[in-house]
Amino acid sequence: MNGWLKVFFAVTLLLFSAVDGSCGTDVRGLVRGALKTLGAQRGDPNLCVLTDSTYVNLAGRSTEEYVDMVEGETGCSVGKGNLLLFRRPSNYHLIIALYKRDTKECVVIRYDGQEGRVGKLHIGDEHVYEPDFWKKASTGVSGSDTSGIVSILRAWSLGAPYDFLKSAEFHGDACPGLAWGYFTAKVVQKQYPLRTGEKYVFIACPNSCKDDAIQVLLGVSPGKRTLFVKKLTEDQKKQLSEEKGAGILVKWNQSQKRGKGAVLAVDMDKIRQTISYKTSSKPNAKAMNIAQLISHLNSSEEFIKVVREFAVTPELMQGLMSAGENPYEVIGLSRKLVRETK
Ligand SMILES: [Zn+2]
Repeated sequence: MNGWLKVFFAVTLLLFSAVDGSCGTDVRGLVRGALKTLGAQRGDPNLCVLTDSTYVNLAGRSTEEYVDMVEGETGCSVGKGNLLLFRRPSNYHLIIALYKRDTKECVVIRYDGQEGRVGKLHIGDEHVYEPDFWKKASTGVSGSDTSGIVSILRAWSLGAPYDFLKSAEFHGDACPGLAWGYFTAKVVQKQYPLRTGEKYVFIACPNSCKDDAIQVLLGVSPGKRTLFVKKLTEDQKKQLSEEKGAGILVKWNQSQKRGKGAVLAVDMDKIRQTISYKTSSKPNAKAMNIAQLISHLNSSEEFIKVVREFAVTPELMQGLMSAGENPYEVIGLSRKLVRETK
């Protein structure tokens, strides 16, 4: 073998081992094992994969290659809507959860860059509506990610619209609060469509899970200064004339320096009629409630009402956005302000 040929083979070998190593042969093996456990073939239409790859780094390396590996092994893809990427911090471990809709079985792979662990979850209604399921799962491989994994995969399996799944990917979870945000964003898009030169500014007050769906669907963000997130104290909430504020929308025209505002609220009577549990703080209640709300995602206007519309001047806009200002007092929708001005 001449010198150049030796160099060629050496470089080729190096390249192959680098690709193999970076994508983690063990993880590929674990994905293949998971498919066997689930009794699934590549391209199975009942299969869905949820992963935080692309968001997390392992030992300082980014993880986008795992998406191709998972797609190659499972046949699931973003284009088919059955490869979902949920957000986790960049220093988090890698999660690959494979789920089979017809059997409700799920295999969860957790990989920290050195050690891979595999766990199994049965996420049928008969299990996830029981508090014991959550207790057991919280100490297993899925740990504190159980809620995100179970809720997003169940939302997919229940036929949730893809833009709801996008919101859940961003939120890291598919919870009832996110459904409220989905309802709100859909009502905004239908009742307040943007015309040329206009943009949405959303005052997320009081803030909650809903605001992540609003961010994804309306394209607003704190960085673009189009989403302002403000918490209300319990006292401030009591002073509101609406029981469950869903936030304040402004449709702002930058060249005309004026806008139209709308106060949105969740219709709690309708929510109460729709869900079984009156609390969403317990994971089993959340699982049941979100399942019931998903079948109503196409009827957003039943759940969100417009409480008031108002004209927005630059001064009012400033007041709505500013730190330390209760936006409901700024527009006169807080009982405290109403009393004070009488
Ligand atoms: Zn949430």
